[in-house]
Amino acid sequence: MLEIVTFPNDILKRKTNPVKKVDAEIKEIISQMKETMYKNDGIGLAANQVNIPLSIMVIDTTSREEEHEKFQGVLINPTLVEKAGEIKFKEGCLSFPGLQVEVLRAKEVIIKAVNEFEEEVMLHLRELPAIVFQHEFDHLNGITFLDRLGGLKKRLALEKYNKSLKEKVGA
Ligand SMILES: [Zn+2]
Repeated sequence: MLEIVTFPNDILKRKTNPVKKVDAEIKEIISQMKETMYKNDGIGLAANQVNIPLSIMVIDTTSREEEHEKFQGVLINPTLVEKAGEIKFKEGCLSFPGLQVEVLRAKEVIIKAVNEFEEEVMLHLRELPAIVFQHEFDHLNGITFLDRLGGLKKRLALEKYNKSLKEKVGA
């Protein structure tokens, strides 16, 4: 299992690099990312969250049984083709343990990526899978969910997060 990098580590603020070839090394990274996501009860993970500066995300929303829309897969070098609608959702992030914030996202996205078999895919994701995709896509671009909040909300969330970090250190 890989160690999860937590905010404010600098790697979370930097854009990741494209993957040139889906070779054995990349497949090993993907397999370890999946293991790390599942062990931490996550539904999505971006490679820079485990200290690897490459454009790879893994998503699996199938454990959220209350959601109608589900998606499970690996997306390499993803791009956002189109987005539509709006949806508000209380998001968590493995890089911000204990913090949940409500973020406004597009309700549907059409995306292009390369999968773990090095095939180009185009996908239409809706609701939770679309939200998770946008969250991880932001990570790959060095953006965290706090950057999606307005000034005051961002400051309050950051204060709450910093306070919980201090409490952990004190414990
Ligand atoms: Zn995250």
